[in-house]
Amino acid sequence: MIPVTKPFLPPKEEYDYYVNGIWKRQWLTNNGPLVNELELKLKEYLDLKHLLYVTNGTIAIQLAIKALNIKGEIITTPFSYVATTSSIVWEGCEPVFVDINKDTLNIDPDKIEDAITPRTSAILATHVFGNPCEIDAIQNMANKYGLKVIYDAAHCFGVLYKNRSIFEFGDICTTSFHATKLFHTIEGGAIFTKDADLLRILAMQRNFGHAGPENFEGLGINGKNSEFHAAMGLVNLPYINDIIKRRMDLCNHYDSRLKGIHKARPTLNSDCLYNYAYYPILLNSEEVLNQFIEKLNAHWIYPRRYFYPSLNTLPYVKRQAVPIADDIAKRILCLPLYHDLSFEEIDMIARILLRVQNN
Ligand SMILES: *Cc1c(COP(=O)(O)O)cnc(C)c1O
Repeated sequence: MIPVTKPFLPPKEEYDYYVNGIWKRQWLTNNGPLVNELELKLKEYLDLKHLLYVTNGTIAIQLAIKALNIKGEIITTPFSYVATTSSIVWEGCEPVFVDINKDTLNIDPDKIEDAITPRTSAILATHVFGNPCEIDAIQNMANKYGLKVIYDAAHCFGVLYKNRSIFEFGDICTTSFHATKLFHTIEGGAIFTKDADLLRILAMQRNFGHAGPENFEGLGINGKNSEFHAAMGLVNLPYINDIIKRRMDLCNHYDSRLKGIHKARPTLNSDCLYNYAYYPILLNSEEVLNQFIEKLNAHWIYPRRYFYPSLNTLPYVKRQAVPIADDIAKRILCLPLYHDLSFEEIDMIARILLRVQNN
């Protein structure tokens, strides 16, 4: 079987080494030495001053909204994973969807202004498939109307924007280290901000609001992660450059083999160094997409309709017209992409797709 993704697993002995240390120290969670070491190594790798390691990428978004004290309406994208929207609703705010650009698949900054009302307090945008949003245009709009900016950068590990980590941009940026992501700690995520005061609030909120063993400074939640999760991150991190390089080679191979397929590919932001997190193709119609899926499934190959459906169709949000996102969501397919996918498997996928198309 060829799934859409498979988690990267390092040699088991390397994980065992860290687990042995955990057994010796008997310190399993609560800001332990491995969590601290992972935070330090991530800061080094990403060349960032601040970050917090948290339970997952969803709690990271929720903490970001909470820490910035955002209320009312949040302008967001309908083309993302459900956690982007659900976090807004979970925090008692209202998502206002702004349509995407049909080429980049990111929120269209030219359409943000029309969606701003007196209740708007923030913009929460996703760098879809690791492709950076139009960060300057979004920031200009936020400055003009006094809005906060949060980026969901769950797909972005290793992405550089203007030669700096993409995680530096926005008032707060979040990411996910879930097993399906390019860099993972089984479950996990991180929050990034340049603002030291904000970081302190986030750290307090991550730990139940504690300001000392018997002191509570404010409302908090359990957003901590464990030594076992941090250990997986410490073992995976040294492989990250190999992981990104391998994905680049696989994507280039797809490019060469899929030349004959009628499809579009997202336009990459020209200021970015990409991480090859996904391999999406945009087909001419939902009908073609369904034919592709059916034939691939018959060969035990499971691509994924990512992202489908468009988030403005969720049962707990107000329906809003986002025709481009609706259309894209129906025609987009992410092809299998993971570290030990082989060139031969890509050749096979390409042959099947070409056969369907030429029938
Ligand atoms: C994976 C993902 C999340 C959620 O991350 P978890 O760590 O699984 O909670 C949020 N947003 C996007 C865009 C994602 O792809």
